[in-house]
Amino acid sequence: MLEVLILGSGSGGNCALISSARTSILLDAGFSRRETLRRLAGRSLEQLACIVISHEHSDHVAGLPGLSRKLEVPVFLNSRTHAALGAAGEALPRVEYFTTGKSWQMGDIEITPFTIPHDAADPVAFSLRCGGSKVCFVTDLGYIPENVKDQMREADCLVLESNHDLDLLKVGPYPWPVKQRVMSRVGHLSNLALAEYLTQDFDGCARHLVLAHLSQSNNLPELAQMTAEAALRQAAKNPQLTIARQDQPLPAISLK
Ligand SMILES: [Zn+2]
Ligand SMILES: [Zn+2]
Repeated sequence: MLEVLILGSGSGGNCALISSARTSILLDAGFSRRETLRRLAGRSLEQLACIVISHEHSDHVAGLPGLSRKLEVPVFLNSRTHAALGAAGEALPRVEYFTTGKSWQMGDIEITPFTIPHDAADPVAFSLRCGGSKVCFVTDLGYIPENVKDQMREADCLVLESNHDLDLLKVGPYPWPVKQRVMSRVGHLSNLALAEYLTQDFDGCARHLVLAHLSQSNNLPELAQMTAEAALRQAAKNPQLTIARQDQPLPAISLK
């Protein structure tokens, strides 16, 4: 059994709580300590085993120093991400290193960090498994390479980036160098790139598909949804589709 609670997703902050009956894991810490606790309202954190970090960009670590002190759990990340955090990394009270590509066990949850193409020191996405359930968090990547497609096979829940609409990005407010960065092979995944994955490579196992890390400047939830729905229709796959929000948590998704 796994429960997936996405507290918020986007360039303003990313954080999710993944829980089994025995263990909870906080994935990324992009909101302030106060905001994270507000969004977790009513949830017991007694079973919280650790905070796991995907990469050093501020929308994934802004609240990390305060949260790790408050929650008194170790922070798991790879050594290059730790180094890239600089003074903020040195100030963390408890740090444990994982090796990209190598799974480890936290309580009854197995965590697998795998490499993704993104402009950070050693960025990873994650698969989490418990009792036959599997969820994958795959955001912040310029395209979907084969190793990532492999990791996403047989997942029950996929949380996938649908960052921008290419046309909106082109006419949008970002300066040209930033637009180039977003569109690059180490930038962010477009609605269309995700649609291509859904039509050509998605195995249809997932009962839940969450579109995540939507740009607030260069995307519209309706556009991301329509593009994914069209792709799923074409592929004759039918997961429940949800759009993660920046401003508030989604209802928890239960995988049995
Ligand atoms: Zn991000
Ligand atoms: Zn990033």
